[in-house]
Amino acid sequence: MRIGFGYDVHPFESGRRLMLGGIEIHGFKGLKGHSDADVLLHALTDALYGALALGDIGSHFPDTDPEYKNADSAKLLAECYGEIIDRGYEISNADITVVAERPKLQPHIAAIRERIAQLLHCECSRISVKATTSEKMGFIGREEGVAVHAVVLIKEAG
Ligand code: MG
Repeated sequence: MRIGFGYDVHPFESGRRLMLGGIEIHGFKGLKGHSDADVLLHALTDALYGALALGDIGSHFPDTDPEYKNADSAKLLAECYGEIIDRGYEISNADITVVAERPKLQPHIAAIRERIAQLLHCECSRISVKATTSEKMGFIGREEGVAVHAVVLIKEAG
């Protein structure tokens, strides 16, 4: 088994759609970024690359590369998942914590878990997504952005 950890943060930006965990959340401003700025999928992808000791998401998909402008982060995760499979591993489980004051994520958690399970070709029961706030402190407390922490365990397929 191998463990990986990922962390990412993106600031809010008006006029963009909010992508979080591979789904679009309506009725709230989006996040700023070179890609679609899906901070949750970025943290998860970073955790998976970390588990493989293959660097970070930025080294695989540079934010200076026009190819990744407004890129669908689900596709980046799918590419990373291919590396997991190529090396003979499968997903054991993932645990993801989203830190945001708003929007409230509870109504969206089931859909996000299903989407991630679909992208990682595993049962939904292997994917945990939790949400918390920053108790109004710091940049998250001021509703300037969203941070995500992700840990994953991968195991030899068999
Ligand atoms: Mg990012």
